[in-house]
Amino acid sequence: MKPSLVKLSKFLKLEVERGYDNRAVLGGLERILESWEIEARGDNLPEELIQTIGNRLREYQKLDEAKRAETLAQLWERLQEAGGTPLPPLPTIPLKVEKAVERAESPSPWPRASSSPNEPEPLEPREVRYPQRQGEASSGPAPVSGKESPAALNAPTTVLPGVGPRHAQTLSRLGLQTLRDMLYYFPRRYVDYTQLKPINRLWFGEEVTVIGTVQSITTRPLRGGQSQIAEAVISDGTGALRVTWFNPWLAKRLRSGAHISISGKIDQYLGQLVMVKPEWESLEQQQLSTNRIVPVYSLTAQITQGWLRRLMNQVITYWAPRLPDHLPESVRRNVELMDLSTALIQMHFPDHVDKLKAARYRLAFDEIFLLQLGVLRQKKAWQDRIARVFDSNEEWLAGQLSRLPFPLTSAQERAIADVRADLASGRPMNRLLQGDVGSGKTVVAALAISMVANHGAQAALMAPTSILAEQHYKSMLKLLADENEQEEKPAGNPILRPEQIRLMIGATPEADKRQIRDGLADGSIKLVVGTHALIEDPVTFADLQLTIVDEQHRFGVEQRAALRSKGDNPHLLVMTATPIPRSLALTVYGDLDLSLMDEMPPGRQPVETHVITPRERERAYRLICSQIDAGHQAFIIYPLVEESEQSDSKAAVEEYARLQAEIFPNFKLGLLHGRLKPEEKDEAMSAFHHGDYQILVSTSVVEVGVDVPNATVMLIEGADRFGLAQLHQFRGRVGRGGSQAYCLLIPESADAAENERLQVMTQTNDGFVLAERDLEQRGPGEFLGTRQSGYSELQLANLTDIHLIEKARRQALLLHEQDPELQRPAHQLLASALERFWGGGKGDIS
Ligand code: ADP
Ligand code: MG
Repeated sequence: MKPSLVKLSKFLKLEVERGYDNRAVLGGLERILESWEIEARGDNLPEELIQTIGNRLREYQKLDEAKRAETLAQLWERLQEAGGTPLPPLPTIPLKVEKAVERAESPSPWPRASSSPNEPEPLEPREVRYPQRQGEASSGPAPVSGKESPAALNAPTTVLPGVGPRHAQTLSRLGLQTLRDMLYYFPRRYVDYTQLKPINRLWFGEEVTVIGTVQSITTRPLRGGQSQIAEAVISDGTGALRVTWFNPWLAKRLRSGAHISISGKIDQYLGQLVMVKPEWESLEQQQLSTNRIVPVYSLTAQITQGWLRRLMNQVITYWAPRLPDHLPESVRRNVELMDLSTALIQMHFPDHVDKLKAARYRLAFDEIFLLQLGVLRQKKAWQDRIARVFDSNEEWLAGQLSRLPFPLTSAQERAIADVRADLASGRPMNRLLQGDVGSGKTVVAALAISMVANHGAQAALMAPTSILAEQHYKSMLKLLADENEQEEKPAGNPILRPEQIRLMIGATPEADKRQIRDGLADGSIKLVVGTHALIEDPVTFADLQLTIVDEQHRFGVEQRAALRSKGDNPHLLVMTATPIPRSLALTVYGDLDLSLMDEMPPGRQPVETHVITPRERERAYRLICSQIDAGHQAFIIYPLVEESEQSDSKAAVEEYARLQAEIFPNFKLGLLHGRLKPEEKDEAMSAFHHGDYQILVSTSVVEVGVDVPNATVMLIEGADRFGLAQLHQFRGRVGRGGSQAYCLLIPESADAAENERLQVMTQTNDGFVLAERDLEQRGPGEFLGTRQSGYSELQLANLTDIHLIEKARRQALLLHEQDPELQRPAHQLLASALERFWGGGKGDIS
């Protein structure tokens, strides 16, 4: 059946179901004709049929109910004939309340017989079925008083009058598939045309609305060209205004004598005030583009702003008031939020700037609230499980601490106390250990492992790269197995023997891997340190009770889950050096408990940091030379791999050649960039680590967390291209030995504003301060390497808005305490909204 026939049949069926009230289409059935006739001709329907349908529908509104029924029945037959397929029999009884269930399932966009925007809705509860939650039984019927089922919002945009398959396709390029998508497709910006002025009071440059009568309208050729413009004179009794559009066609549509409103910017032409290309609307129309705060939507080819605005208005006017609010009444009251219907209306077609603000706030609140609820649910799912209890008594712990080569910082002591309590709690630990580079997280990890190994259980420590894994492996041998024997006998005995600790990385020979697999499966190996090879490898553990993940932003949620699944609810410790601003930590990492290591081990010298201009580069090279002469090493970092057309940023590959040949011919330089294979990267890095190179030229792939204590200079070219938090990470690569270290930042241009941003680096060594700045200046992208579910849903919420985040969190916590699974009938809408927000539970990490 041709699309135009299918579409028409839908409207006819709906009209019958509604009881012939001529409201199946806003403004009456005949309203669809203009676009339908075009579609029908496109489908090559017989002209006679098109004419008949047109005539019948145009007279439809004048008929009484019986005649309307007759008309529809006859048209139904014509459709069957023309389509060549039998249509299901047309319902003969008007839709009654019981039918609501069916309607919710095969959603229809338009009102039922009894409802119109101004009439009160029937009060009796209706049964409405909600979309089923993923992996759960139906949440069952829930009473929703006086509002339409949200399921109807899943209807495709083609149910809208004037939207055919082709338009629908164009709309889908904007991500608009359903009516709900449209409700949540917010304007990109707004133009304030609320200033209404008489013509004799206009000023050059103003954005205003003028209401008047078209005195004359003509076309004339544009100077020198073939193209024509339309030129009108509008008068309002106080004066006349010349208006032009680059659309000669308008001269046919706009008749002189028409009353219109026009909005735009007042320009000047040959000494006269004029308006060029203003928005205009007939005063008989609803004012959407003039004389108000006008929404401006992002467009795509083949869609005009005016068309989309009118379509949006249709959807908003009809649907927004009918949308039930998923936020519980109590939450709305506590935070004094605008209700959802009003918020959506005001978001698209604001009456006032203040209302627009309130609407934004409400909708941003929704986003953060749903994010928080999801995070809390994840946390609970994890906490509800039972984990093995690992008790460690004071005496034993004191013995272990006495084996360390240094006293702990108080931040380390606190973190260890947190971990110890978690391990003894009977619930799986789920902790984020956050501390700046060099704050000493490794020791905390080692002690956690010893607490578990002390009871004979196994642990796995995962790092993002082989070099880091190797480094951890060596540390663990030292800390847990006394590999480097100390002179005096410490009070505590080493927990493990060296052979009980193994390293498993991609490069581990297959024979060794087999041996390690056996040892893990029979429980003789107690700790395995490795990379993601650990997850991919078919290793099984006899009794894995603790997993530790270092530098967690490199690991996705799925990888954490995969590692966890190797054990039976193992305890989890995640370590990161990324300074996560508080507002983000509350949201994204809200499912983890946080131990913050905000203190450096004593005796650290801050890295001396300078911002220097490109012209002073020679100075930087001299510093590098003198440091190398003193036996040290240097990093030089570049932003991109190869010179690209768009960017004049220094390319590591080319610069490496130049530096080696022209600047540092007497030194050996290594090169590290993203195009290298992982083994090649590892090789370059460890060669530098072993001192084979004096200088390592690298792109931003240089590994976080790798210790090269001998490196004292970090030179960063194109520094303005990096976030402050990332620069801080680079800086953390040096100054790990005892000598004074330097960080030199060279921006691409000597631009003052950029330099000012970079100057912060010279003023603070605090990763958190820098991270907060980054979040303000660059948004959360810096911290969220991979797309996380929940995150892509944030349209309005600003993650730097700590007040909003805390408010939403408080409400989410309150609600979570009352009804963690959102099982109460009053929370059904919220439960569906949560499912939608989290994309069907993809964000579930457990
Ligand atoms: P990160 O938090 O970056 O992983 P590490 O655990 O690698 O930091 O520690 C950095 C350096 O500081 C290591 O050489 C480590 O031995 C040393 N260190 C850790 N804790 C202390 C401490 N309490 N006192 C002195 N040095 C410490
Ligand atoms: Mg580390």
